[in-house]
Amino acid sequence: MGRQGSGAGGRAAAGQNTGERPAALPPNAAPCAGEACAAPPSPIRYKAGVLNDISSPWAAVLGAGPAGLMAAETLAQAGHRVVVFDRMPSVARKFLMAGRGGLNLTHTEPLPAFIARYGAAARPLAPLIEAFPPEALMRWAEALGQPVFTGSSGRVFPRAMKASPLLRAWLARLAAQGVEIRTRHDWQGFAPDGALRFHTPAGPALPRPAATVLALGGASWPRLGADGSWVRALAGLPVAPLRPANMGFRVPWSDVFAARHAGTPLKRIALHFRDRTVRGEAVITRDGIEGGAVYALSAPLREAIAADGVAVPRLDLRPDLPAEEVARRLSAPRRGQSLSTFLRKALALPPVSIGLVQEALHGGAAPDALPALLKALPLRLVAPQGLERAISSAGGLSLAALDAWLMLRERPGLFAAGEMLDWEAPTGGYLLQACFATGLRAGQGAARWLSAAGAPGQG
Ligand SMILES: Cc1cc2nc3c(=O)[nH]c(=O)nc-3n(C[C@H](O)[C@H](O)[C@H](O)COP(=O)(O)OP(=O)(O)OC[C@H]3O[C@@H](n4cnc5c(N)ncnc54)[C@H](O)[C@@H]3O)c2cc1C
Repeated sequence: MGRQGSGAGGRAAAGQNTGERPAALPPNAAPCAGEACAAPPSPIRYKAGVLNDISSPWAAVLGAGPAGLMAAETLAQAGHRVVVFDRMPSVARKFLMAGRGGLNLTHTEPLPAFIARYGAAARPLAPLIEAFPPEALMRWAEALGQPVFTGSSGRVFPRAMKASPLLRAWLARLAAQGVEIRTRHDWQGFAPDGALRFHTPAGPALPRPAATVLALGGASWPRLGADGSWVRALAGLPVAPLRPANMGFRVPWSDVFAARHAGTPLKRIALHFRDRTVRGEAVITRDGIEGGAVYALSAPLREAIAADGVAVPRLDLRPDLPAEEVARRLSAPRRGQSLSTFLRKALALPPVSIGLVQEALHGGAAPDALPALLKALPLRLVAPQGLERAISSAGGLSLAALDAWLMLRERPGLFAAGEMLDWEAPTGGYLLQACFATGLRAGQGAARWLSAAGAPGQG
């Protein structure tokens, strides 16, 4: 997942805000960020009242991220009128941000292994992913003029390694299919008569669609639009608390270590927690650690901290060397060398790794345990980093509350898709794959609903 794999990338991207803040944005909204500025402007301007003048049933899609746009496309292809609403001034900002890391669309591992990545949600998501599997997503991207390639890890990216050309082509196709997009529509919930309640720059709007697809996203990177505020609007429905996923953790570094090593990558390390070992990279931050290897273990680490107040994964600083070889090299006489010179020469360790060993020794580790420290250095994680820096969020609307078409059993005509549903997955393309697959299914469900309501489509 490109940037996902390097925690520093997320923060680097965060530092590149350049745009202005429009007057009528919700409090969470941010100026357009980096590549997000490249989003084409919405082609449709707001016309007060027009939606209530439509005589035949139509569908509303709330949220113009990948899930919502996929639902809208599905509805339009079935011949239905569909209007997409988003609170931001331009669409799909998180998708564009994902493009800053190359846009890891999906993964080519065998489907059973792929589906198992969704953990507890694998069973309900399986039929949806099987109906729109990774190959289908790849063909979809290619049909939009964006050939894809598979990296050595099995991750799939568009050759352009960014999201903007794909999004531009997609929005043009959606416009040609008649999909209307209304930005700066901040959904507040439902009016007592069931109408959708929006704040817009032109004042309140209360359209009444015959079917609604909610695709409002999770709560990570809230300045890109999705902040989880929809939870209030769905009060009474089963929603698991939104928590960070694929995020870094806080580690109580000494001031000296943090000052010297914050921002330094830890390359070619392995991280071990319980029965899992992940090889990869991480980045030391001022107050903790983040990056691909950490994200991969972030769900069990987060749960361990919730249960015990702390999680202690082990860091292998030389995963390519067997423990015996590390012990053999460290058994050589030091000949008056400082510890850091000795470690640098014996094991070719970079300063950041030596700093980690010294942190552990200052924290009470026994000096004669040096070989064990090199292969299994304990890292004391005391808290997950917040949602504002997480790649994705866990929690959301319970899948058990939805039928096979992703319609809320308790709210006929109301569908939901994307990251706002209660599933989580590691980085590697699993997030976008599930957003597209659920968007497709919710769009199909809404199309069926509209057809049953007498709308002129083939849903
Ligand atoms: C830095 C970063 C990199 C990432 N890289 C990858 C990657 O390479 N591969 C991958 O698989 N995943 C990646 N992801 C995750 C992926 O981008 C998300 O999982 C995906 O965008 C979620 O899609 P969605 O349509 O469910 O929600 P979103 O994309 O979040 O879209 C939701 C939309 O709803 C709108 N909205 C929310 N509330 C309201 C409201 N009240 N009224 C009106 N509109 C509202 C928002 O403005 C937003 O446009 C990355 C995420 C981040 C932050």
